[in-house]
Amino acid sequence: MFGKIHEIYSSISGEGISQGIPTVFVRFAGCSLRCGKTENRALWCDTPYALGPYQGESLSISSILKSIETYDKDHGFQILLTGGEPLEGKNRDMSVAIAQSIFQFRNANGKPYPASRVETNGSEKITLDPFFVFTMDYKLPGSGMEERMDAENFEILEKRHNSLDEIKFVVRDRIDFERSIEVIREQKIQTNILYSPVHGEVDAKELVEWIKIDNPPKCRLSLQIHKVLWGNQKGV
Ligand code: SF4
Repeated sequence: MFGKIHEIYSSISGEGISQGIPTVFVRFAGCSLRCGKTENRALWCDTPYALGPYQGESLSISSILKSIETYDKDHGFQILLTGGEPLEGKNRDMSVAIAQSIFQFRNANGKPYPASRVETNGSEKITLDPFFVFTMDYKLPGSGMEERMDAENFEILEKRHNSLDEIKFVVRDRIDFERSIEVIREQKIQTNILYSPVHGEVDAKELVEWIKIDNPPKCRLSLQIHKVLWGNQKGV
């Protein structure tokens, strides 16, 4: 089995409930969404360099695991499968294989973070598997991608009942925020909720004011700490 991998590196987790935790990033190549690219507004994707399937190298499961081990010899880092989209097409099989292998080893050896975190865009079906924890986006109207969202994922998150799962709303404007509140109510979301502003389009302080008024359950503002530390650099 081979997967299209754009890069593997170590850093700290930049956002969400795992922010600041030492993490090995496995970035898959390929994603069929184009977030933010509407008629008159620009793509806001953080990783445009990993969107096409040809922007990755075919690596075997053993070489990916070996590479993870070079960054994390003692198996103490969180493993983050990201992209691109780690659950799209053939990337899905490789994500399962990596996460299963890490889960078995860490459980047998009493290591932390047995489940690999998957950052997924909300258009691919998530799973009940215990070897994954999910950071699942729900794309709001400002992304132009809301129609691609798979609403069944909310039921799966509910069934998983995993306190490490999270749903991320990236907010471009007030319309997006109001839609997020609607979705939270309609779907009776119990999972951790993250709010992130689209850089340069909505002021994070304004988003805080909106959050304070509606205060959805288990929500928090999530800013990208890697950008504070290193700016808009790749591989950090
Ligand atoms: S889903 Fe993620 S990787 Fe794909 S275009 Fe949107 S932000 Fe970029």
